[in-house]
This record gives sequence, C-alpha cells and structure tokens, in this order.
Amino acid sequence: MPVILKKRSKKRMKKIISHVKFQKLIVPRPDVLHGYLRHEEINRYLEYLKNRYSFVQLHVLGLTHERRQLKAIEIDWNSEQNLEAVERERTRRMLYDKSAVTPLPQSVKPGSQGRNTIFIEAGTHAREWISVAVALNCIYQLTEKHLRNYELLRKLRFIIVPVTNPDGYEYTFVKNRRWRKNRRPIRHSRHIGTDCNRNYDFHWEDGPSKSGRNTFKGLKPFSEPETRAMRNILRKHKENLLFFLSLHSYAESIMYPWGYSKDLPETWQKLEKLALAGRNAIKAYNGRSYRVGSIAKLTKRRISGSIVDYVFGVINAPLALVMELPSQALGFQPPAESISPIGHESWFGIREMCKMAYDIEAPFLKLEATLLAKALTNARQPLQEADAASNKQPLYRALMPAIKAEQVLKNTQVPVKG
Ligand SMILES: [Zn+2]
Repeated sequence: MPVILKKRSKKRMKKIISHVKFQKLIVPRPDVLHGYLRHEEINRYLEYLKNRYSFVQLHVLGLTHERRQLKAIEIDWNSEQNLEAVERERTRRMLYDKSAVTPLPQSVKPGSQGRNTIFIEAGTHAREWISVAVALNCIYQLTEKHLRNYELLRKLRFIIVPVTNPDGYEYTFVKNRRWRKNRRPIRHSRHIGTDCNRNYDFHWEDGPSKSGRNTFKGLKPFSEPETRAMRNILRKHKENLLFFLSLHSYAESIMYPWGYSKDLPETWQKLEKLALAGRNAIKAYNGRSYRVGSIAKLTKRRISGSIVDYVFGVINAPLALVMELPSQALGFQPPAESISPIGHESWFGIREMCKMAYDIEAPFLKLEATLLAKALTNARQPLQEADAASNKQPLYRALMPAIKAEQVLKNTQVPVKG
C-alpha cells in the first residue's frame, strides 16, 4: 500500500512540474508595438527577453526615490555565454543533418581601442511616452528580429535604458499626463522634482535654479538617484562607448553637442555626418524631414547639465546625439495606432546611425590591425633567422622581438577621437 501511494504522488508531482513548466512558457508577452506600457509591464517584457535569448542580460542600475528599479538591457551577440549557446546548438543540429548547418560568419571583435558599445536612453522626461515606445521598438528589433539585424549585432553591443525616470513616468499615468521631472521632493521647497536632463555635472551651474520650474537643475550635480545611476553605468563603459543616443520628443530633430554653448565641438562634422545618416534614412523611408544641427543652435536656447553634453564632454564618447522624435502634430503621447509606425520609422534612422557610427570609427580599428600585423611580421623575421642559424638560441633572445612588438603596440596611441 505505501508503495502505491509513493508511486501515485510521484506521478502527481511530475504532472505538477510539467504544468509549471508549461505555465512559464505561456506567460503573455507584453505588446510593445501597439500600446503604451506601464513601468511594470516594461520590466516584464525585459525579463521575458532575458529568459528567451542567451545574448540578453539585464542590469539593475539603481533605485529611484519611490523604490522603483532602474533597468538596463544589454544585447551582446558576442558575449561568451551566447557564443557558447550558439556553438552548442550547431553541434546538436549537426548530429541530425550536416547539410543544414551553414558556417557561422565571424564576429568582429574590438581591439584594445576598439569601441563597440551603443548606448540608448529614453524616458528621462516623464511625459515623453513615445520616446519610451521607440526605445522598446529598438529592443524588439535587436532581440525578436535579431536575424534581420545580425549584421549590426555581430559588430556592436547595445545597452538600452528604456525608462530613465520611472517615478515620473508612472506619475504621468495616474496623476498628471503633462509631468516632466522626477518625483523626489526638494529640500526646503514646496516643489517636487528635478529635471534629470539638467542635473549632470557639465556646466551644471548655468542651468535653471528655481525649483518651481519644469527645467529645475537640482540642488547640486547628481543630486538625483536616476542621474547617479546613469553616471555609474556610463563610467563603467567609458572605454568602449562608441555612440550615445538620448531619445526625446517631439521636435523632429537630430542634434549634437553642445547644448551649453553655441560654439561647436572640434569634431562637429563627424557628428553632423552621423545625424545626417539618420535623417536621410527616415526621409527615404517615409518622407519625414528631421532637422539637423547643434542643440544650442537648433533650439535657440543654452541647455546646461544635459546627459548628452556630459557623455560627450566628460565620458568622452566620440559620438553622442539627441533625437527629438515625432510628432509635432500629435504631441508627447501620439495615439496608440501611431506607436508602431513611429517606432518602425525611427528604427530605420537609428539603425542607420549605428551602422554609420561603426563605419566612422572603423578606420581607427583598421589602423590598429595594421600596426599589429606590422609588429608581428617584424617580430617573426628575426625569430626565423635565429632558428635557421642555430637550434640552441637561448629562448629569451628568440622571444625578445615579440616582447618588443607588444611594447610598441602598447605605446602606440591610436586616435579614437579625431
Ligand atoms: Zn525631453
């Protein structure tokens, strides 16, 4: 009798386990293309992608004043865990049908100076819902449509923060749709909230200091948990940052630094070339005509302490832009049926800019490869000669040229920002 009971309960357990597994599979995927998602739904979508794809990772960057998690998604095809998973899958398939397996195109690995990270952030300004939707569309394209975007994925790594100001974003759903700032109370003031995009430590002092204003810069640089969290992740990826893109709405423009001054940075032509690539791609797609120029010139205002000036001026990313999305006709929160068309149109522009960012910096990567090849040839030659002369050459003498070549490489400054 006890044996039968045991058998029965085992059977039951198996049934429960398979049911649980099944349930995990059918957790509905939030529809990112046809509606504005709440913060919780967005996080659920990110979790869904992390569980589904081995090239996706999530990072919690920090907590907001209202204890919401600020999350970044990292999409990195060349990550070790993904390449291992891809290899496992290939081997498994080969066992069944050798002819079905095509050789894997080689990944492009960055050199020591090779920057390969694209960083996109959106939703700093709470009411700019369409910027969040567009960031989610980028995430959708790079994950669920990764086969279409493989060319981009094998060269570049993506870090995307779709909602940089979750407290403010949620507030626009439940209380005030026109809210812009975050939701942390300001000390010694009856006002609430700081404009996170004026709170970065780059010409911060020139920003608006009245706490009642919509563009209040905060009591000091990085006074806000959101901006501190962003600063920390940007610092972490400083060496590899290739192109930083900040999404806003709704001026329909692609702009480059500076915001704090009407002067142009030395490399403005490179920035403009990048912005024009995005503009032209969108124009060719559906005829929409974005304006291109520096932030201060195009907005006719000086904007201090913004994230894009900070990333360009302090973090030293070679390429940094702001994209003010559509639509001038429909405002910050275009109707749901516009989300998908605006998302797809914007992706055309953003994808083109990512490609162009890689091409703009590619000469530097190539230069590095040439230096390496030269150094290795120089190192090999005496080694071969030494081999020919005698087999009893002391090992260190044979290795010296290689060590020297390594030193040459280390000391050779490859210009990344030019
Ligand atoms: Zn904005």
